[in-house]
Amino acid sequence: MAVTERLYYSDSHLIEFEARVVDLSDRVSGWTAVVLDRTAFYPTGGGQPSDTGTLNGSRVVECIDDGEQGVLHVVQGAAPARSAIVRGRVDWPRRLDHMQQHTGQHILSQAFVTLFNAPTRSFRVLAASCEIDIELDNPTTEVIERAVELANNVIWEDRSITILNVTPDQAAELPLRKEPAREGELRLIEIEDFDLTPCGGTHAYRTGEVGMIAVRSWERAKGLTRIEFVAGTRALADYRKANKSARELAALFSTGRDDAPHLAAQVIEENKELHRRVRALEELAAGVEAEKLLAGARDGVIVQVFDGRDAESLKKLAHALIANPQTIALLGSRDKDTARLVFARSTDASGDMSALMREACAIVDGRGGGKSDMAQGGGKNVGKLDDALAHAAASLTRP
Ligand SMILES: [Zn+2]
Repeated sequence: MAVTERLYYSDSHLIEFEARVVDLSDRVSGWTAVVLDRTAFYPTGGGQPSDTGTLNGSRVVECIDDGEQGVLHVVQGAAPARSAIVRGRVDWPRRLDHMQQHTGQHILSQAFVTLFNAPTRSFRVLAASCEIDIELDNPTTEVIERAVELANNVIWEDRSITILNVTPDQAAELPLRKEPAREGELRLIEIEDFDLTPCGGTHAYRTGEVGMIAVRSWERAKGLTRIEFVAGTRALADYRKANKSARELAALFSTGRDDAPHLAAQVIEENKELHRRVRALEELAAGVEAEKLLAGARDGVIVQVFDGRDAESLKKLAHALIANPQTIALLGSRDKDTARLVFARSTDASGDMSALMREACAIVDGRGGGKSDMAQGGGKNVGKLDDALAHAAASLTRP
């Protein structure tokens, strides 16, 4: 039975090491799982993804914690021979990133406990950010930012982080942030005068190495508060991305980055006002247009197809038309990818507009309905719009 000595337990910054191959097995992927007598590679676990790197130059794509069997190093390419001495190398940028996120999580979790007595229930390192789920009642951005501020102060105070190995009896006497998830000897991570918690992950030497913590977003999730945060190099990458978006948005308004939200809100307000004015002008125009259409109508029936008019605009025109006695309006519009229809009649004219509309909509592969004097609908078969109107007009003349 093979047991791997976990070098990362005692030194999170050790990235080069020598070890002996004690076991080899084939993976279904066609790659090889290598078990070593000692390793600096951290295997996936505790919300922290696996390290990657090389063994004798061959790619280590993932490491899996196989419990008593030790750590499986999944090697892509040439695998070493059993009993061979191999040289391992852990990818440092990835390790540093994971240490920053993971240590950042310890600090942020303790900040929520210190300020709000809000324990962390779970933690995940995702591709570009991290998530913690905490028991925080009545979360607000202000409350969360208070914890973030405390966490960053702890980072900038550059406190020491030490590893303590204790017995369960010793642990029982200590103020641990969370209950140990395993039995036997415990590995505790202590952040100087701030946090003490059992953990098997890789952590920074000092809090300063975490750099900074920033919250991207938060939401309520399953009775908990889910906080998305970034630490260290991820915080910088996220700032660059956010700054780029903000500056691109600002350029659209020909303004500076920090003035963009105010100007965007102003433009949206102006746009709403313009819409109101367009509607008012359309009403005026509809009256004029209705007169013109009525002048050319036969027996008070107007059949007309337009381009690019929305349903609201068609309805305005229909209302203007049926303000005249003995009038029926069958209106259609090719509005981008949609065929729109509005049928209406004056109160003294006869015909069931709703029934006509249902038949017409079937022709344009859509749906519609309404009342007997006013109905609307539409469909996606714009090419059949003329047919639909012709069908409705023909139906009117039938006894
Ligand atoms: Zn940890």
